[in-house]
Amino acid sequence: MWEGEEAQTVKYINKNLVFLIRNKMAKHKIEIDLEQCTGCGACNASCPESFEMIEDDKGAPKAKVKTADIDELGCCMDAAQVCPVNCIHITETETGKKLI
Ligand code: SF4
Repeated sequence: MWEGEEAQTVKYINKNLVFLIRNKMAKHKIEIDLEQCTGCGACNASCPESFEMIEDDKGAPKAKVKTADIDELGCCMDAAQVCPVNCIHITETETGKKLI
């Protein structure tokens, strides 16, 4: 073994592990159809941990999901279910199955 070879191998393995961890897909993807969103705020009231209200470029209120790619849904499904225009969509990333 050359001097320093072991250290380089360890560094190489760690680099690949970091790559794998960074590229691990979250279990769910949450999307909001902003064309449909009326800005009523029901999602934010139901699940403030995951939804916030913002203004679009015309000053109209719109919902925004704080983290679109998540493992645990928490209250996100509740928020999607209270949306009066059904514009919150949740997908299982591994299967592509639409949950709502
Ligand atoms: S509940 Fe639906 S329509 Fe209301 S702000 Fe949230 S995403 Fe928009």
